[in-house]
Amino acid sequence: MENVIIIGTGPAGYTAAIYASRADLNPLILTGTQPGGQLTTTTDVENFPGFPEGISGPELMIQMQQQAEKFGTRVEFGRVDAVTKEADGTFTLKVGEKDVQTKAVIICSGASARYLGLPGEDELTSGGHGLTACATCDGAFYRDVPVCVIGGGDSACEEATFLTKFASKVYLIVRRDELRASKIMAQRAINHEKIEVIWNSGIKEYVTNEKGDIRAVQLIDTKTGDESELEVEGVFMAIGHTPNSAFLNGLVETDDQGYILQKQGTRTSVEGIYAAGDISDTEYRQ
Ligand code: NDP
Repeated sequence: MENVIIIGTGPAGYTAAIYASRADLNPLILTGTQPGGQLTTTTDVENFPGFPEGISGPELMIQMQQQAEKFGTRVEFGRVDAVTKEADGTFTLKVGEKDVQTKAVIICSGASARYLGLPGEDELTSGGHGLTACATCDGAFYRDVPVCVIGGGDSACEEATFLTKFASKVYLIVRRDELRASKIMAQRAINHEKIEVIWNSGIKEYVTNEKGDIRAVQLIDTKTGDESELEVEGVFMAIGHTPNSAFLNGLVETDDQGYILQKQGTRTSVEGIYAAGDISDTEYRQ
C-alpha cells in the first residue's frame, strides 16, 4: 500500500513529488508515456524563474527529477490505464499488467496540444524546427521573421496578438470564413497591423530547408482546393488541447472538455484524489 502515487512527470508532478518526499510520504511517481512531459518537446526555456541564462526543456526536467529523487521519490516508468476507488477509501491503479494500491493520488497528467496529424510533425516539434503549440514558450525565438498561427479560437487570436511583439508578420490561418473566438479577442487580432487573416485555408504540408527547419507552408483553400505557398519560419498550432483525463473514466468531476475541477485548492470531487497543473488549468497552460 503506497501513501501517495503521483501520476505524470511534468513540472506539476515533480513539484508534488518534491513536496511529498520532503514531507516523508515516500511518494511513487509514474512517468506516463512521455517522461518529463510537454517540456521535453521544447528547446530553450527562458521563462522559468531561477534560470536567468535559460535552460533546455529536457535538462530542466532532468533537474526536477533529480531534486525529487534526492528526497526519496521513487520514479517508475508506467502509464496508468484506470483508477478505482475501493470501499475502504483507498485506490487501485491499473498500470499495464500490474495493480498498485495507494491511499492518495495526485493527478498531474497534463494536457496535450492538438496538431493537424500531417507527416513530419514529430520531427518538427522536437528540437525547435519551427513547429510548436506554445507562443508564450517559443514566441521569442521568432524575432523579425514571418510566422503563422493555425486556428480561429481565443487561443489562436491571443497567440497571434502575442506573437506580434516578435515576428515581422503574423498570418492567422482559419479554416472557415469566421472566427470562433470571442468578439473582443477576434477584433484585436483582425485590427492589428501586423496580423493578416487568411480565411478558408488549411495547411497541406510543411515545407522545410536542408536543415529540416520550416521555411514555408503549403496552403490549401478549403472552398476551392487551390494551393499556394506561404513563407513562414514558425508555425504555431492553436487548435485546442486535450486534457489527459480519459483514464479516470468519470471517477473525478471534470468540465465538459475533461479538465479536472478543483475544489478548495488542489482537492477534487473525490476525497484522496488531488489534481495539479495543466490537467486542471484551462487558462494559463504553464
Ligand atoms: P477552441 O476549441 O475554442 O478553438 C479551436 C479553433 O481551432 C477553432 O477555430 C477551430 O475551428 C480550429 N480548429 C480545430 N481543429 C482544426 C483543424 N484540424 N484545422 C484547422 N483549424 C482547426 O480552442 P481554444 O484553445 O482557442 O480555446 C479553448 C477554450 O479556452 C475556449 O473556451 C476559449 O474561449 C478559452 N480561452 C480563453 C482565453 C481568454 O479568455 N484569454 C484564451 C484562450 C482560450 P472551428 O471554429 O472551425 O471549429
